[in-house]
Amino acid sequence: MNTQRVTMVTGAASGIGCATAVRLASRGDTVIGVDRNGEGLDELVARIASAGGVAHGITADLSVSGSAKAAVDDAVSRYGRLDVLVSGAGITRRHTVVDTTDAEWDEVIATNLTAGFWLARAAVPVMQEQGGGVIIIVASVWGIVAGPAVAAYAAAKGGLVNLARAMAIDHGPDGIRVNAVCPGDVDTPLMRLEMSLVGDDPEATIPSSAQGRPIGRIGQPEDVAAAIEFLASDDAGYITGATLIMDGGWHAGG
Ligand code: NAD
Repeated sequence: MNTQRVTMVTGAASGIGCATAVRLASRGDTVIGVDRNGEGLDELVARIASAGGVAHGITADLSVSGSAKAAVDDAVSRYGRLDVLVSGAGITRRHTVVDTTDAEWDEVIATNLTAGFWLARAAVPVMQEQGGGVIIIVASVWGIVAGPAVAAYAAAKGGLVNLARAMAIDHGPDGIRVNAVCPGDVDTPLMRLEMSLVGDDPEATIPSSAQGRPIGRIGQPEDVAAAIEFLASDDAGYITGATLIMDGGWHAGG
C-alpha cells in the first residue's frame, strides 16, 4: 500500500469527510482527519487501521482562530509534508437574514468560510515549499444558487466557491490545484438537520427530494468522496479553479 501521499480531511468524523477519509486511506494515502468530534475521529482512525490503512486524528474546533494552523503544523511535523487538503468541516443553520443573529452569522461564517481560509493559508506555504499540492474545498450547490432560509450558509458557501478560484489563480504557478465541489442533498446528519430545522421530516422529504432530481435519488457521502478522489489524483492534473456541482442534476433545471 502506498502511504506516501499525506492527506488532511477536515470534518472527517462524519458524512462526506468520513467517506472521503476512508476512501483515500484505502487508496494508500496517509490520512489526517480533523474534527471537533474526537470520539468520531477515534472510530475513523480505528476503522482505517483495521482495513490496513494509516490514519491520525486531530481534535480541533476549526472555527477558532489558530486551530487550523495548529492542525496543519501538527500534520507536517508528524509526517513531513502535506499533499492534499480536503476542507470539508461545515455546519448549517436555517434562518433568513432578518432572523440571523450576529452570533449565528459569526458561527456559520467562521466554520464554513473562515476555517477554509485559515486552513489554506497554513497549507499553501507547505505545498509551495514541497513543489505542489491539491486543495479541495467542499462548498455546496447553495453556494451557486441559494435556497430558502439559508442566508448565512449560502453566503459562506458562495464565498468558498470564489475563494477556490482566487487560490487557483494565485497558486497554479506553484503547482497547487484548487477546486470546489458543490454537493446538493447528500444523506448525512447535516442534511437531515437542515431539513428538520425548517420543520420538514427527513423521512418524508428525502423521497420528494429524490424525485426532484433527474437521477431520481439523493446523494450518498461516497458519491462525493469518489469525486474528491478523482480531483486529488494526477488524472485531474489539468483541473483547477473548477466548481464541480454534484446534485443528481437538480441544478441543471434551475
Ligand atoms: P456532517 O454533519 O455529517 O459532517 C460535518 C463534520 O464537520 C462533523 O463531523 C462535524 O463535527 C464537523 N465540524 C463541524 N463544525 C466543526 C468545527 N468548528 N471544527 C471541526 N469540525 C467541525 O455533514 P456533511 O453533510 O458530511 O458535510 C460536510 C460538508 O459538506 C460541509 O461543509 C457541508 O456544508 C457540505 N455539504 C453537505 C451537503 C449535504 O447535503 N450533506 C450539501 C452541500 C454541502
